[in-house]
Amino acid sequence: EAITIQELANRMAERAVDVIKLLMKQGQMLKINDVIDADTAELIASEMGHTVKRVSESDVEEGLFSAADADDALESRPPVVTIMGHVDHGKTSLLDALRRSNVVQGEAGGITQHIGAYQVEQGGHKITFIDTPGHAAFTQMRARGAKATDIVILVVAADDGVMPQTKEAIAHAKAAGVPIIVAINKIDKPSADPSRVRTDLLREDIVVESMGGDVIDVEVSALKRLNLDKLLEMILLQSEVLELKANPSRTAEGIVIEAQLDKGRGPVATVLVQKGTLKVGDILVAGSEWGRVRAMLDENGQQVKEAPPSKPVEVLGFNGTPAAGDMVAVVENEARAREIVDYRQRQKRDKASVLASGARGSLEQMMNRLQQSGHKEFPLVIKGDVQGSVEAIAGALDQLGTDEVKARILHAGVGGITESDVTLATASNAPIIGFNVRANKQARDAAEREGIEIRYYNIIYNLVDDVKAAMSGLLSPER
Ligand code: GDP
Repeated sequence: EAITIQELANRMAERAVDVIKLLMKQGQMLKINDVIDADTAELIASEMGHTVKRVSESDVEEGLFSAADADDALESRPPVVTIMGHVDHGKTSLLDALRRSNVVQGEAGGITQHIGAYQVEQGGHKITFIDTPGHAAFTQMRARGAKATDIVILVVAADDGVMPQTKEAIAHAKAAGVPIIVAINKIDKPSADPSRVRTDLLREDIVVESMGGDVIDVEVSALKRLNLDKLLEMILLQSEVLELKANPSRTAEGIVIEAQLDKGRGPVATVLVQKGTLKVGDILVAGSEWGRVRAMLDENGQQVKEAPPSKPVEVLGFNGTPAAGDMVAVVENEARAREIVDYRQRQKRDKASVLASGARGSLEQMMNRLQQSGHKEFPLVIKGDVQGSVEAIAGALDQLGTDEVKARILHAGVGGITESDVTLATASNAPIIGFNVRANKQARDAAEREGIEIRYYNIIYNLVDDVKAAMSGLLSPER
């Protein structure tokens, strides 16, 4: 096993230049990206006063997310709620109304800020709301294997009833196994017909209590602020049933809700703590970034020193900008953080080059051709279930392009993947992407024969993310 000088230095939390100097003393002239073997690395490490422990790749993440907590360490925690529903049914209005009426009072003078989540208080109990309505964020989290939501509030406008995105939201909540509370909104409107909403929902297998089911529904008006307290009470009731608990007395784990690079403050990430308590000074990893918590701010712009389970805080101190949906874990020291992040960045690169070799055994060919032609294009064939999704995918992939590399969509069509799609793909060594569609037997056989990769997706975000990774593989091919 070999390691670059940079990586060795990172793992020891030493400067690469010191490693190079030491190697020089031993008669080796090497540069920062040169590779040294494990024995040399071990020698260097012990000369620099480090204890050497060789780890296999898979050990790196071991123990990062620790085992379940003992029952007696668990304490109840606030529920985390996401609001979903059809466009214009009042998701944003509801989030705003709830926030304005019940937001946990910070110190005097606190200015409310959008950090991606906020807490309200009802009868002495806290509730955390994810401040991004709609199911895009929800799906994005889930796509990364993270579960950030305990309860979904399904907003349905009483004057409009169940609409396409209402159905989508129901599908997402069900797929995630998250209980739904229905908020029948806009009941102030003369044309409001709440009972129609209930019968509409019946058709989607959402049976509210008054119709003999067990789904809670509340009639509200975000505009006139009717029944908002009742909605909050129902959320608390539901969360009691769920028995939401976490151990606050341990190192923190959580999830990134939002992150961006702020001009003045550097990388800023809103972390929703899920276990343990996050503290200023903690060293944490999030996806393939790490940092030391320099400061934490709540949704009122107030500094906080500690964040217990279900509390969202803006974290300052990351060295790079993590991505929404990244899992966060506190680690014991900087060396450990670097080790994990190095490992993950390596994984990311490997994954990218695996995907770039979509057409097995033809990556070299493709790279050669791309290099010869002077510009890099990433050929793709896309098949989807409906025109709308095919167009959305094509549009999203188009936007990924840079001057250096861009997606070239050979064909984007509606319907299952057929042999003629494979023929088309073979001509350009292009992978085929199926969105909510499958390949028939002839197509599968042909793909197998030609070494064409067929990838299936049902979440656009995953698809785009993977193509992005593959394209960055083209940008910097691994040697
Ligand atoms: P979103 O797209 O689901 O986030 O919906 P918005 O919150 O942006 O609301 C869409 C429109 O419905 C806006 O014009 C709101 O003012 C209006 N609206 C939202 N809630 C209510 C309500 O309870 N009553 C009435 N009459 N209008 C509402």
